[in-house]
Amino acid sequence: MTHHKRLLVIGNWKMNLDYVEAVHLGQQLGVLMKNKPVEHTDVVVAPPFVDLRSVTSIVESERIPVEIASQHVNANDNGAHTGEISVSMLKRLNVKWILIGHSERRSMYAMNDDVVATTLRSVTRAGVQAVLCVGEPTEVRHAGEHEAYVTAQLTSALEGLDEKSRELVSVAYEPIWAIGTGETATSQVVSEMMAHIRSVLEHVSCAHARVLYGGSVNADNASSLVLEGGVDGFLVGGASLKAESFMSIVQTCDDCYDGKR
Ligand code: PEP
Repeated sequence: MTHHKRLLVIGNWKMNLDYVEAVHLGQQLGVLMKNKPVEHTDVVVAPPFVDLRSVTSIVESERIPVEIASQHVNANDNGAHTGEISVSMLKRLNVKWILIGHSERRSMYAMNDDVVATTLRSVTRAGVQAVLCVGEPTEVRHAGEHEAYVTAQLTSALEGLDEKSRELVSVAYEPIWAIGTGETATSQVVSEMMAHIRSVLEHVSCAHARVLYGGSVNADNASSLVLEGGVDGFLVGGASLKAESFMSIVQTCDDCYDGKR
């Protein structure tokens, strides 16, 4: 069965690669994508802030079919926020996507649900696409509370968002126990959570949003996560730092499009 939503694969480079290394990786992605273009998959990379200008330049000048995301943003328009970056600064750099509430921001940099909700509003008000990251820690999963936990994260961010803003939202389900651990969630676990997230999204009038999975994704587990897990794509950390491993996830995803549930 053909699925109507295009797939979306985002590489989150985290705090890796200086601007020279980042440009190099961008160029390598360009070569691989030229050799084997993708048909049904939107490809996005999220470099560190200091690399954004160089990576957007190379992507534009070499016409590489990749869009650029920021890993984070401050919710305020400007002012006394030492060390922070605003949405308008990112827009000027042609950044089209912003990750919001990655679990590393939530757990290490005090990004609570209120800050996530405010940030989501700033991003979508500016017309930039938002990737809302949600996912439970291991103890919540063991207690069987994962669905309620994710519901609370989703509703606090999305409830009351106006229609135009809702259109700019994608969701990434990233169980914290699977991020950077090598322990990927099974297709069964992912498929149950996809159904749950989609029912919550329907409730907040956001049913069109693409729902990605993130957590130790690689070329070997990507196809079953698309075909059996029913994801609309991936947020990839570690495996996005090498052009070959990232592109093989992208290609696998693209190849699975027609077989997706
Ligand atoms: C992430 O941090 O978004 C992530 C999914 O990381 P990894 O793929 O390395 O688990």
